[in-house]
Amino acid sequence: MKRVAVLGATGSIGRQALDIVAAHPELEACALASGSRPLDALSVEHPAALCQVAGDVTELLERSEPEVVLNAIVGFAGLPATLWALEHGVDLALANKESLVAAGELALAAQRGGGARLLPVDSEHSAAFQCLDGRPPEQVDSLVITASGGPFRDFARESLADVTVAQALAHPTWSMGPKITVDSATLANKGLEVIEAHFLFGLPYARIDVVVHPQSVVHALVRFRDGAALAHVGHPDMRVPISFALTYPDRAGTVVPGLDLTGHELTFEEPDLDTFRMLPLAYEAGEAGGTAPCALNAANEVAVERFLLGRLPFLGIAEVVERVLDAWDPAPVETIDQLVAADARARKVAAAQSVEVTAAKA
Ligand code: NAD
Ligand code: MG
Repeated sequence: MKRVAVLGATGSIGRQALDIVAAHPELEACALASGSRPLDALSVEHPAALCQVAGDVTELLERSEPEVVLNAIVGFAGLPATLWALEHGVDLALANKESLVAAGELALAAQRGGGARLLPVDSEHSAAFQCLDGRPPEQVDSLVITASGGPFRDFARESLADVTVAQALAHPTWSMGPKITVDSATLANKGLEVIEAHFLFGLPYARIDVVVHPQSVVHALVRFRDGAALAHVGHPDMRVPISFALTYPDRAGTVVPGLDLTGHELTFEEPDLDTFRMLPLAYEAGEAGGTAPCALNAANEVAVERFLLGRLPFLGIAEVVERVLDAWDPAPVETIDQLVAADARARKVAAAQSVEVTAAKA
């Protein structure tokens, strides 16, 4: 029996993870956590699990003694759980990319100390992890992660000025929580994923590429130094990477059917970096290093929240993030307190810039 802590249990990833746990007798939910939604119904289905709504998840993790932590909390709020698992040598199935983006160096140092496995749940990173199969960065020429392009793939910049929240939330291929769905529409999600890949696989940014692939069938491609390239393909269904991470290295069965190659037309195109500014901004923050990715993430969280409340136009998201980064001094990250302070500072600047950007566009 493998004891699984499911954090963010009421969310899109959390609920799919619990379906997988329920379907596998060798998995047992030992902890369930949510930010605010009640866990009563889920705790009936998973009676062995300790439950916690809001509060410090590390207390729940201490008490529930998991063997694997599925971190599917959304945003920087997922950081304590990521660090707890890595420091305690408990395997981490990581959906919460924001924690690795903000605290990449600290997370990797914690992992080196604790010896835990870091198993990506993000579909592109699960795909790359499988293609890489433990091979070191020097055998790799470059990594390509694919982007669906989101609901505004073919939109010109001018036509994005007035897009609504409902339009941004209508993702063509993936059904996900609201924050990551907006991130997919701005390509911020792909930007965060580039930084996530940098830390997960030890590759420099110049060797991580993004290609738009609207069908979301190819999830990642790894080009090796000998000219061979391995791609990971499959239906766009998060249950596959969630199951892979929770049952690693056993690759247990899922209800998702295998891919039939006939009947699919697969297309690939360059991302439009002038229209979708969040992607180049993420590369810039990644290259700057230190606290810059933390600031990028914090500013994006604030801007997305405002957009979802109807208080910032869609194009204002990247504008706010760019203003925060322009004024940012990316100090090296040495402690968690320093990072928490950087996150708070970036949020404050982003909130002020959101007001200015909205006023300027009104
Ligand atoms: P969601 O909004 O559907 O769910 C978020 C969950 O986090 C909810 O259960 C919420 O209660 C919980 N939560 C929020 N703040 C919390 C806190 N402070 N403490 C404890 N729990 C808290 O989001 P989602 O789509 O499931 O995404 C979760 C994470 O997985 C995000 O980091 C996202 O980027 C990543 N991810 C999601 C998908 C997807 O298909 N949904 C794919 C790849 C990666
Ligand atoms: Mg992804």
